Amino acid sequence: MDIETMIKESKISCENSNNPSVIIIGAGAAGIAAAAKLYENNFKNIKILEAENRIGGRIHTIEFGNQMLELGAHWIVGEHGNIVHELAMEYELFAENSGMTDDLDEKIFDSSGNLVIFNESEYEELSVIYNHEGNFEHYAKNNKTASVGDFYNDKIEKFLKAHPKWKQNKKGITNILDLMMMALYSADSWNDASVISYIDYEKCPGTYIFHWQERGYHSIIDIIMKRYPKPEEELPIINNIILNTKVSLIDYSNEKIIIKTTNNEIFTADHVIVTCSLGVLKNQQQLFKPSLSKLKQKAIDQMGYGSIGKIYLFYNDPWWPLETNVTGFSFLWKDNDLELFDKNDKKNWLLGLVGFYTFTSKPNILSGWVMGKYSRDMEKLTDEEVKNHCWEILQKFLGKTYNVTCPTSIIKSKWYTNENFHGTYSFLKINSDHKIANPAKLAEPVIKDEKPIILFAGEATSTNHSTTVHGAIETGWREAQRIIQHYS
Ligand SMILES: Cc1cc2nc3c(=O)[nH]c(=O)nc-3n(C[C@H](O)[C@H](O)[C@H](O)COP(=O)(O)OP(=O)(O)OC[C@H]3O[C@@H](n4cnc5c(N)ncnc54)[C@H](O)[C@@H]3O)c2cc1C
Repeated sequence: MDIETMIKESKISCENSNNPSVIIIGAGAAGIAAAAKLYENNFKNIKILEAENRIGGRIHTIEFGNQMLELGAHWIVGEHGNIVHELAMEYELFAENSGMTDDLDEKIFDSSGNLVIFNESEYEELSVIYNHEGNFEHYAKNNKTASVGDFYNDKIEKFLKAHPKWKQNKKGITNILDLMMMALYSADSWNDASVISYIDYEKCPGTYIFHWQERGYHSIIDIIMKRYPKPEEELPIINNIILNTKVSLIDYSNEKIIIKTTNNEIFTADHVIVTCSLGVLKNQQQLFKPSLSKLKQKAIDQMGYGSIGKIYLFYNDPWWPLETNVTGFSFLWKDNDLELFDKNDKKNWLLGLVGFYTFTSKPNILSGWVMGKYSRDMEKLTDEEVKNHCWEILQKFLGKTYNVTCPTSIIKSKWYTNENFHGTYSFLKINSDHKIANPAKLAEPVIKDEKPIILFAGEATSTNHSTTVHGAIETGWREAQRIIQHYS
């Protein structure tokens, strides 16, 4: 069947001469935000095509035994200038802190099962590393080709010189601090992340570890769609999302853009807003016809995109002290144990596990975070294998102190394996040409006859808030605004 016939027979066409048609690819935070802004500006001819069988993208709140758990985005990172905070604060849907934080306040155990105690000055110096302090900003601005690790490895050397008793634990200390940084950058190591990731990111001042309560992070999607708090004011977005619809081709060689899906459906549009993750763009190189410009492709290739994993362990009878304010347990590997596990092909993913953390509101659950390449190895294992490995490791680190029992069940994320995400979020790599490999370049639209026809939104296109939900929302609004502007 030729393409013209396919268009005529396509189930849905967004063509309407009075109202430009916009197809948004992806119903994550950026896609939903773009649709909302367009509807609010009287654009009516909008469809969102979503590959998954749900909306939200990397916001993924699930219900398990009456408890809401986040498989994706977790925290509202900052208050002032954070649009998520601004949109949701009046509804009292979130509270401060739960689960892993970037403080050293959790109990730290070593792999021999002993509680690790740093004295005051040791603690202070390590906290400086933890919290991105100690002249990092000054260093970053003056060493733009450096990696985040270049700065902190040097700090660790100085720490060990000042506190030689920790020298035998150099690998373990480097590992735990590197893992904490990898949570920020989602890189495989702090040696892979460019200091420019840090310079470009604008922190939103205020508390940066608010977490959602009963309704979960998905609430922000409902708020943007105006489903919450007044369902009668809901924007007509839900009915214009087509789930289980994976786009395989965006052909912009004709006057109308033709969008083809893996179900062999055809759509046409005047504008397409692409919100797929950078991981998807890296892996779906045949998505565009004609191919994107060389510079755009270079930006896609050279920007970094990593992965992180989450694990939830469930217990009928929690074995950790509930009545105290223990917020969790971080793992400090002894160097010899670390080397031993590193050689174990099946279990070396455990070196990427920062620790396990408690929830005040969910007393029977522990949550674990697995960083970088280790999360990819973890995803390859079965749930049962991961559950047993977690039990083993908890016994190893905590068994001398607590009667650690086997979890009754487990849930783990699969962001890397899922080809609609290919990972978690973006960062800037070292040894890249940052004049090209940057969010602004990724965000540049394809323009034809002065009309922005292919537009790019999504977390990785945010010049100041990449990696975050608020960054993703802002980019959706930005690209909707670009279309609105074109017609005004
Ligand atoms: C484990 C984890 C923890 C995180 N923690 C935080 C946090 O604490 N705080 C924070 O602010 N942010 C956090 N983030 C990041 C945040 O979730 C993302 O930055 C944000 O949700 C990205 O939204 P997006 O719309 O850009 O992309 P996405 O949410 O990825 O949306 C893109 C959508 O496009 C769909 N899609 C992909 N390819 C196709 C295709 N070919 N056809 C059709 N549809 C397609 C996908 O299924 C997806 O739904 C975390 C992310 C993860 C994964």
